[in-house]
Amino acid sequence: MESDLKRTWAETDLDALLHNYRQIRNHIGENVKFLAVVKADAYGHGAVMVARTMQDAGADYLAVSSIDEAMELRVNGITMPILILGHTPKEQVRKLIEHNITQAVTCKAKAEEYSAEAVKTGGSLKVHIKVDTGMSRLGFLCEGDMFETGVSGILDAVNMPGLDTEGIFTHFAVSDEPGEECRAYTLHQYELFTSVIDSVEEKWGRKFKIRHCANTGAVACYPETYLDMVRPGLLLYGYGDFAKGLGLKPVMTLKTTVSTIKTYPAGTSVSYGGIFKTDRVTRMGVVPYGYADGFFRSLSNKCSLYSSEGPVSQRGKICMDMSMIDLTDKPGVDVGSEIEIFGPHNPVDDMAKTAGTIPYELTCAVSKRVPRSYIKGGQVIDRELLLRM
Ligand SMILES: *Cc1c(COP(=O)(O)O)cnc(C)c1O
Repeated sequence: MESDLKRTWAETDLDALLHNYRQIRNHIGENVKFLAVVKADAYGHGAVMVARTMQDAGADYLAVSSIDEAMELRVNGITMPILILGHTPKEQVRKLIEHNITQAVTCKAKAEEYSAEAVKTGGSLKVHIKVDTGMSRLGFLCEGDMFETGVSGILDAVNMPGLDTEGIFTHFAVSDEPGEECRAYTLHQYELFTSVIDSVEEKWGRKFKIRHCANTGAVACYPETYLDMVRPGLLLYGYGDFAKGLGLKPVMTLKTTVSTIKTYPAGTSVSYGGIFKTDRVTRMGVVPYGYADGFFRSLSNKCSLYSSEGPVSQRGKICMDMSMIDLTDKPGVDVGSEIEIFGPHNPVDDMAKTAGTIPYELTCAVSKRVPRSYIKGGQVIDRELLLRM
């Protein structure tokens, strides 16, 4: 389904995406593979179009968080390798094998389940072993006293029938944080990871084909951790301080239009709860962008959007379907004028800071009623609306 409604819409700039991909490729060097993280609908940018761009550009791997996300890509013609980072119930193993989807194996119990299912289907499941080196989320626990148990669990897993172990990976907890403590923590995670690999490989008598751990923070700051493949998400989409440092461009521009303008006298209270009262004659615009579109209500009365005449302050509580902006000093902004919510002029990073969160959360929050359009060669090449029509 597509929509050309100019209410509120998200533009995914595939040219910027390709630019970022190439810049990161240059940065990591020729001998390192590139896994593009496209989970959560490619952080809200549209997983199919992002994956297609990555496939055409020659990326090596994609990562998603569930089998449904992986299948969305397969059904839409993505044939390149896909790794599921999260859990898949064992009932889905046949489907994983059928569609050549790689599964993370996060503990011995899961390895046993997957192995048994794969043997039942007579096929073999491609897996990457996940090691917990300090993220304390998923993975074989290998820290301190757990080292031997962890290594032997992994060794059991790689030797199980029906499992074809291609890779091993871990995830950094603080590689994107500044400071010596975080640096030490990250390097410790990395050292533990490589010790686990060495120990397993020695006992197994084989090598892991793809060892990977570098997320955005590590791609930017820890070249010593690249190993065989890097795994950036946020960086690819061009957000955060590291993106600026590498000359990357923001991929998403979220836009809306002014639907109505009214002029109020001083002393008028605006929107639910009356948290904003005009202190002068005020020309107030209404934009059809509210929390149901992904505008964080916690930003009410705290943020600004960007008009053709510069920043405009958001006023009063953000409503479900709309919000108000002060156009008093922007005489050239009229009904129908485009407003950038975030994008190249109004960085999502700034809005995230104001909201006390990270840019990931804002791009992921763009909701399904917001149509997406995809730009390539400066032209809109496709449009999408994710409603049930
Ligand atoms: C999401 C995720 C990434 C990408 O993280 P960024 O910070 O966006 O680079 C990499 N690896 C794993 C396991 C992830 O879950």
